Amino acid sequence: MANGFIDKARITVRAGNGGNGAVSFHREKYIAAGGPDGGDGGNGGSIILQVDDNMSTLMDFRYKRKYVATNGMDGQGARRTGKDGQSLIIKVPRGTLVRHAETGEIIKDMSGSEPYVLCKGGKGGWGNQHFATPTRQVPRFAKAGLPGESLDVFLELKLLADVGLVGFPNVGKSTLLSVVSKAHPKIANYHFTTLYPNLGVVYVDEGVSFVMADIPGIIEGASEGAGLGHDFLRHIDRCRLLVHLVDVSGSEGRDPIEDFDTINAELQQYSADLAARPQIVVANKTDLLEDPEQLEAFRAHVEALGYTFMEMSAATHQGTRQLVQRIGAMLADLPPVIVYEPEYVPRPPQIDTSEPLSITREDDTWLVEGPWLQRLMANINFSDYESRMYFDKMLRQSGLFDQLEAMGIEDGHFVSMYDLEFEYQK
Ligand code: GDP
Ligand code: MG
Repeated sequence: MANGFIDKARITVRAGNGGNGAVSFHREKYIAAGGPDGGDGGNGGSIILQVDDNMSTLMDFRYKRKYVATNGMDGQGARRTGKDGQSLIIKVPRGTLVRHAETGEIIKDMSGSEPYVLCKGGKGGWGNQHFATPTRQVPRFAKAGLPGESLDVFLELKLLADVGLVGFPNVGKSTLLSVVSKAHPKIANYHFTTLYPNLGVVYVDEGVSFVMADIPGIIEGASEGAGLGHDFLRHIDRCRLLVHLVDVSGSEGRDPIEDFDTINAELQQYSADLAARPQIVVANKTDLLEDPEQLEAFRAHVEALGYTFMEMSAATHQGTRQLVQRIGAMLADLPPVIVYEPEYVPRPPQIDTSEPLSITREDDTWLVEGPWLQRLMANINFSDYESRMYFDKMLRQSGLFDQLEAMGIEDGHFVSMYDLEFEYQK
């Protein structure tokens, strides 16, 4: 965005691959056939998201778009496990929504403080130390590591605030925030002074406080994409209550009723849900009031529509304390700030199973490997029944079992694929 406030970004993240298991046999001078001692590959590092309250924009993501965690190291002889890859922690501002870049579905709402594993590192492959059985004393195979997960995501900042200020530019929103909180928004007597959202903590009483957000003023026609206001409305999507400021002084020749209806129409066009949010309507700049009749007409209009109406002068602080207390009382009865549920359900990737797999036989164990199988297995959650059924379907579809039959596999033999080994049954 031209004004430098970055609240959207698209990034690519990739977890590290698992290291390969080692094939190795214990060797000592004068001792002939030592046992298998190939160590396991290390696990790949994961991509982890973490909220950082010192961040207030997605600026950091503007120039750095790719985030890669390190791979696990390969295992070595003497049962030495490869080093795990390092996880990469990506810090985001509180309130960042993480969406799937292609479908737009919400993967995670980073509103809480717990870290979130966005992409899991690939598991390291087992070394041949694990594959010795009474009938298979010389396992000359180990397992390759699995690839780490990767994802293209869209980050979108939606501030976490209890109260959102709405209204035309210049009506006194930033002034109000600066009066009731410690925030220092820019205040000036020209339109569009607020170019990025500001948050302030407002103390009501001992132990009772709320967060208020001042967003850039909505301008007429913003819902048709005419100006910057609309893009910022998303920052009040989560708010529990809206405080709608209107300049009733008549000093700029504005009509309060018209202004009020225009803003509400804009909210409605942006989202019916937001327009229906509880609203306190505040007539501001009463210190400059020129026509008390106009104020009364405005009050009647607002109250007829069922809204709470208050008068205030942010400049002289008249009525600001009452407003804060009223907000506190209303919030006590309102549901908490909206936190979005994940919409994205990981789906197994579309995989072409036509490429032949490599099959090698070691005594009664059949080793199966190949790029598509590796990719498929990295994306299957084996603790989930549906996923296992899908995996089974893909293997059948690929013709693997027919091929094994043709090569002479028997019931009770083992099929070994990466970190999975199972007994074969027809
Ligand atoms: P915003 O665009 O809605 O954030 O409006 P600002 O807070 O930046 O205020 C715009 C102008 O109106 C500034 O010059 C303020 O000093 C002035 N202003 C705000 N509230 C009042 C008020 O209650 N009375 C008077 N006289 N001026 C005010
Ligand atoms: Mg402002």
